[in-house]
Amino acid sequence: MAEYRIDIFYSGRRLPAEISKEAITQEYSTFLEPEIRKHLEMDSRAFSPERGQYDAGVLLRTFEGYRNLFLWLVDRDIFIEGMNFVFGCAIRMKGAILSVYRLNSEELIRKETVHEVGHILGLGHCENDCVMRFSNSLQEAIEKPGHLCSACREKLQRMHGI
Ligand SMILES: [Zn+2]
Ligand SMILES: [Zn+2]
Repeated sequence: MAEYRIDIFYSGRRLPAEISKEAITQEYSTFLEPEIRKHLEMDSRAFSPERGQYDAGVLLRTFEGYRNLFLWLVDRDIFIEGMNFVFGCAIRMKGAILSVYRLNSEELIRKETVHEVGHILGLGHCENDCVMRFSNSLQEAIEKPGHLCSACREKLQRMHGI
């Protein structure tokens, strides 16, 4: 029985949301019940004309006060201050935004979904051969595995009492 419901939103195509839903079901079935909600427009105030990217922090404010966990898949490039770009950005036990802009395969969308959702559930970055390994280039994302290591899985079970 899943513990929490997670609502998936998307900007652009719906397909990445379907891929994410499947990835969440496969990796986190004991913790989460994913549901695709709807298309969501990206707030133009989050766009930085100098960078040609959207500010992930500003976009996340769209969900202030939202009561379920959420995952928002966007099709434009995103950044946070101090980084050239990010694949995603998560707030623990709230939700995450994930950009598919640089993710050119289904496999990468799955992997980065599992990574961001791991952050939502409270995991930090991991040094093991693990999907929670930090990656800030496409190559690093390609090279890391698509699943949690046993240490991260045990940590999750401890944190959520399952
Ligand atoms: Zn991360
Ligand atoms: Zn790990």
